Amino acid sequence: MTFTELKLINPLLTALDKKGYKIPSPIQQQAIPHILLGKDIFGCAQTGTGKTAAFALPILQLLEANKNPNSRRSIKALILAPTRELATQISDNFKEYGANLSFAHTVIFGGVSQLHQVNALKKGVDIVIATPGRLLDLMNQGFVKLNDVQYFVLDEADRMLDMGFSDDIKTILKYVPEKRQTIMFSATMAPKIRILAAQLLKEHESINIAISKPAAGIVQQAYVVYDNQKEKLLHEILKNEDYKSIIIFSSTKEKVKELAQSFKSLNYSSKGFSSDLDQSEREEIMRDFKNRRLRILIGTDILSRGIDVDGISLVVNFDAPPDPEDYIHRIGRTARAEKAG
Ligand code: AMP
Repeated sequence: MTFTELKLINPLLTALDKKGYKIPSPIQQQAIPHILLGKDIFGCAQTGTGKTAAFALPILQLLEANKNPNSRRSIKALILAPTRELATQISDNFKEYGANLSFAHTVIFGGVSQLHQVNALKKGVDIVIATPGRLLDLMNQGFVKLNDVQYFVLDEADRMLDMGFSDDIKTILKYVPEKRQTIMFSATMAPKIRILAAQLLKEHESINIAISKPAAGIVQQAYVVYDNQKEKLLHEILKNEDYKSIIIFSSTKEKVKELAQSFKSLNYSSKGFSSDLDQSEREEIMRDFKNRRLRILIGTDILSRGIDVDGISLVVNFDAPPDPEDYIHRIGRTARAEKAG
C-alpha cells in the first residue's frame, strides 16, 4: 500500500516524499482511512509505530478540506501529550507534514516562560500541541479558547494517567465541544484506559498494533549478575565501540544521578537526564545526544519514554522495570523505523 492509496492530498504526499517515507506503517494504514471518514479512534500502539503521522496527516487533511478562508484563526485541533519531549516531537512532525499547507501550530508546555507561548496564541493558531498542566494554566489566564476545537487527540493516554493528569484532562475537556472527533492512543489496554476510552469516544474504531511485542529488529540479551557486579559489567559492554549511541535506563532518579556521577568520573561521554534539570539543560542534552556529541544518555522511564532519536545502537536496562510494558517502551528506543538495534 502507498500513501496515495490512502487518498492523502498532494501537499501531504509531497511532504512525505521529502521525509523519504515510502510505505505507510500498519497503524497509518489502519487509522488514516477511519479518521478521514470522521470516526473516533482508539489505537493501542507504542511510539515507534508511526502513530504520530497516523493522526497528524488525516487531521491536516480534514482541516484543509474544511478550511474557511474568511474566518479568523482559532484552535481547531488540540493534541495532549504527557511530556514536553513528546509534545515537541509531535509539534515538529506537524511542522514537517504540514509544510505545504498554511496552518499555524504551537506547542505549549511548562517549565519555561509562557511568553512565547502566549504570543503565538495571540497571533492565532489552528493546532495546539500541549501538556495538560500548562495548557490549563493558560486557559485559566484566558489565553486559550477551545470552543472551536473539532479534533481532539489524547496521546500516550496510559502514561498520562500514570502521571496523574486524569483530572486535568477532564477539566480541559469541559471546554472542548461535545461535537468533535476524538482520537486516543495508549500503549496498554489497562482497565482504567478502557474506562477513559468509554468516556471520551463515540462509536469508535479500535486499532490494535502488536501490543507488548518488541520491534523485530531488536536483539535482546540478559546477564544474570549480582547488584554490585552490574556497573563493572556495564563498563565491559561499553568498551564495544560499535555502540555509538546508548541509552541506559534506571527506575529511580537517585540511581540515574549515581550512575551519571560515576560515568562522569570515568570520563565517559555521558549525561543524566532527569526531571531536576531545567528545560534549556534538557534541550541541550537532547541536542548533543541527537548530534552524536554525547554517546550515553542515562534516564528514568518517564523522561526517556517517547524519545525519538534515530540510530540508537544500544539500550541498557540497568534494572528491570516493574511493568513489562515499560520494558517494551525502553527497548523500543532502538530499532526504530524497521532498523536493527
Ligand atoms: P512515532 O511512532 O510517531 O514516534 O514514529 C516513529 C518514527 O518512525 C519516527 O521517526 C517517524 O518519523 C518515523 N516514521 C513514521 N511513519 C513512517 C513511515 N511511514 N515510513 C518511515 N518512517 C516513518
